Amino acid sequence: MSDCIFCKIVQGEIPCKKVYEDDEVLAFDDIHPMAPVHVVIIPKSHISTLMDIDNKKIKIINNLIAAVQKVAVIKKIDASGFRTVINCNAEGGQVVFHLHVHVLGGRKLHDELG
Ligand code: AMP
Ligand code: ZN
Repeated sequence: MSDCIFCKIVQGEIPCKKVYEDDEVLAFDDIHPMAPVHVVIIPKSHISTLMDIDNKKIKIINNLIAAVQKVAVIKKIDASGFRTVINCNAEGGQVVFHLHVHVLGGRKLHDELG
């Protein structure tokens, strides 16, 4: 997707503060952090939203969740705890239409989800 900012980050056209990378996913610090730790994890292949995941693409979710665990260890919030968020479409607050998981931690997060 040529006009997708997260694809541009994967391709190195837009810089990022990389936290973790493997063949399938890239994780980087969010540019507008909502918590002391705020990492965005994306699949390297473009997929727009959570609603585009089907049985054939479920491996993408496996890869993202495996990366959540790695990021939590790297950022030293695996024991203290963290929150994962996937926003989907307009009312879910999705702004960038390349599927991503937010990992938030480093402080006590508020109890309410929205
Ligand atoms: P969402 O609202 O779930 O679509 O989240 C998109 C997230 O991407 C927001 O938290 C933004 O701060 C973040 N973001 C947008 N552009 C960049 C960028 N160039 N580098 C890092 N994070 C970004
Ligand atoms: Zn993309």
